Amino acid sequence: MGMSLINTIVVAGGTHGNERTGVRLVQKWMEHPECYNSLCSAKVDLVLANPEAVRLNRRYRDHDLNRAFSQTCLDVTVEPQQYEFRRAKELNALYGPKGADTKTDLLLDVHNTGSNMGYCLILSARDPFTMRASAVLTQEFKDAWIYYQPEERSASPYFGTVAKADVCIEIGPQQHGTLDAAIFEESERLVKRYLELAEEWNRGELQKRAPIKVKVYTQFKDLGYPKPQGGGPIQAMIHPDLMGRDYRELKDGDKLFRTFDGKDILYHGESPVYPIFISEPAYYEKDIAMSLTVKSVEEW
Ligand SMILES: [Zn+2]
Repeated sequence: MGMSLINTIVVAGGTHGNERTGVRLVQKWMEHPECYNSLCSAKVDLVLANPEAVRLNRRYRDHDLNRAFSQTCLDVTVEPQQYEFRRAKELNALYGPKGADTKTDLLLDVHNTGSNMGYCLILSARDPFTMRASAVLTQEFKDAWIYYQPEERSASPYFGTVAKADVCIEIGPQQHGTLDAAIFEESERLVKRYLELAEEWNRGELQKRAPIKVKVYTQFKDLGYPKPQGGGPIQAMIHPDLMGRDYRELKDGDKLFRTFDGKDILYHGESPVYPIFISEPAYYEKDIAMSLTVKSVEEW
C-alpha cells in the first residue's frame, strides 16, 4: 500500500470456526460498536468469516476456508460444491476483489493455535504499515512475535490476501473450541492497537517513529511426521524436549521426535532453525509436525 492512507479495514474472526478468540471478539464488537469505532477514522467492517464452521465449532465444514483464496479458486465459474469455496467467493466479492482494485486496505484475521506461540503476527508481504505497526506491538506486548511468510499474493490461499495488506494474528496456546479469558482480553487489546496504529499511520506519525529492532522468523519449510513408506499412521511424536519450545533454536543433532517404542529421532538439516506451530492440532491432517523458520534481526 506504500504511503497511501488506510481507509477501509476488515477485522475477521472465525475463519476457522473453532478458533474462538476471534469468533467472540467479532461477536462482541458487533454488539458493542463503541468498543472499536472511536479508535480510527477508517471504515471498519467486522466479519465472521466461516459462520457455518462457527456453528459446528469445527475448523471448517467441507474444506479449510483459509486455503480457498488463491486466484485460481476464486476464478472458478461453476458454483462450487463445497461450502467453503462458495464462501470464499462471497467474501472476495464483499471485501475484495483480490488484486489492485480491492475494497479493503487492511485485513486483520484473528486465529488461535494450540502451539505455544504467544501473539504471533504473521506477515505475508513486506508492507510498510504492517511491518511498522507489528514492530511497535513487539515492544508493547511481552509475548508478541513476527513470523514472515512470504507469499505470491495471487497464488496465496489465505483470506487476508483479498486485501491490499493483512496481518494474520495467530494466538496460542489455546485449545481449539474453547476460550481463555486472559488471552481474550490481551487479544482484544492487541487488535485495538492495530486500529489505533492505522490512525497514527494516516496522520503520518507512525512513519516518523525511530526504526525498531525486531526478530523476524521467516518461513523456511514445513516438517511432517515420520511415516512408513507408502503411507500409514505416524511413527513418532514430537520429542518431549521440543514440546512447547516454539521460536527456540533447533540445531543439527537435536532431539526432534520420539517413536512409540521410546527411540529418539534427531534433527538433521539446515541449522540453526526455529520451529513454530509445534504439534498444532489442526495440522495433523495436513501432515505438518511443525514449521521451521530462520531468524534474522532487522530494523522495521
Ligand atoms: Zn486458524
